[in-house]
Amino acid sequence: MAQTLLQKVWDAHTVRRLPTGQTQLFIGLHLIHEVTSPQAFDMLRSRGWRVAFPHRTFATVDHIVPTIRRERPFADAMAEAMMSALERNCREYGIPLYDLGSENQGIVHVIGPQLGLTQPGMTIACGDSHTSTHGAFGAVAFGIGTSQVRDVLASQCLAMNPLKVRRIEVTGRLRPGVYAKDVILSIIRQLGVNGGAGYAYEYAGPVVDAMSMDERMTICNMSIEGAARVGYVNPDETTFRYLEGRPFAPKGEDFTRAVEWWRSMRSDPGAPYDDEVTIDGSALEPTVTWGINPGQSVGVTGTLPDPASLPADERAGVEEALAFMDFRPGQRIAGTKIDVAFIGSCTNSRLSDLREAARIVAGNRLAPHVRGLVVPGSEAVRRAAEAEGLHEIFTAAGFEWRGAGCSMCLAMNPDRLQGREICASSSNRNFKGRQGSPVGRTLLTV
Ligand code: SF4
Repeated sequence: MAQTLLQKVWDAHTVRRLPTGQTQLFIGLHLIHEVTSPQAFDMLRSRGWRVAFPHRTFATVDHIVPTIRRERPFADAMAEAMMSALERNCREYGIPLYDLGSENQGIVHVIGPQLGLTQPGMTIACGDSHTSTHGAFGAVAFGIGTSQVRDVLASQCLAMNPLKVRRIEVTGRLRPGVYAKDVILSIIRQLGVNGGAGYAYEYAGPVVDAMSMDERMTICNMSIEGAARVGYVNPDETTFRYLEGRPFAPKGEDFTRAVEWWRSMRSDPGAPYDDEVTIDGSALEPTVTWGINPGQSVGVTGTLPDPASLPADERAGVEEALAFMDFRPGQRIAGTKIDVAFIGSCTNSRLSDLREAARIVAGNRLAPHVRGLVVPGSEAVRRAAEAEGLHEIFTAAGFEWRGAGCSMCLAMNPDRLQGREICASSSNRNFKGRQGSPVGRTLLTV
């Protein structure tokens, strides 16, 4: 019987059905970082448990690390404590850690693929919402909370609710200047920030087929912003080419055998879907958010909604967003004056993102009142970008060139908005306070 990728991966990793109706799933790869792991290790320690599969567990530091002045101890005592706890826990439990100074230090969702740890047909878990990124490879990847991090450390398993599958087909061809980020922002606007509840999103169609792995990661990354539990793309030749030669990818004949198996972990023709949606990719335009959730977006030629013209149940949310952002109904989004430009985060901080941004800023200057930060997703990305001279293009344009980390995506390090600043951000969340100032304003864009 024809099956979706989700069903195949689910079945292949099922340990048993639980009386609760959930499935106990074996987790092939567990990625951890400094913020959601310390309490999980403490819980393990207090029960005298070991890490069940340390060789399936990999750690890096990303959320709290400064992107300049990275000397230890950090000025922020809390950040230093989290960092020290991760180092101690990894030492004690035999878990590899890509620490500051390692070429592989970086945002957890950037280094997994970069190292070839993320592979098709896997189950993956990480204590960060945007773990859905790894679905770009045809993996089923769950963002989990701290108590689930404990569960995976102790048992390498998770108890998961069954999921429906929505196939989202993006047809046509993207116009010049329209990127993967525009596609996912448009999908979230159309389906709603809660529209994916209970679903896995399967992205497909000619636009997705033509995308690079970096672009597919951008789309899968934001699945969670549409409330989908996971998002994935069926693996294909683009996936296999990306993985070949990466440190943790199989080698030689093992790679050939792996590709054979990976090819079988696609959704079959005629597989049953719980829902199917088609989006015309040719009609999309560069998209930017104007509000306080990622579904409140508009094409660059568009105008902001007028609450008076909306159904009653939508008015309050739009009014709240317009008031917080200090925007007027019907206002054009083009021409909005920004204070900060942030290029980074697990959505858009890979080498191809930086190359594209550098191509656009080359020969230009930031306006004198704008603070610009470029934060590569990993140290490997930073070094590769520097080898191409991209850092010089950015600094010549007035941007600050930083070390790898999450930075102003969630501002758990010193990179923060001040007061009412407006930031054009390549990250994935525009919630109130997300970028460090409770009243700071975020415009999500490419
Ligand atoms: S860049 Fe942002 S979304 Fe991505 S892992 Fe870091 S904090 Fe999470």
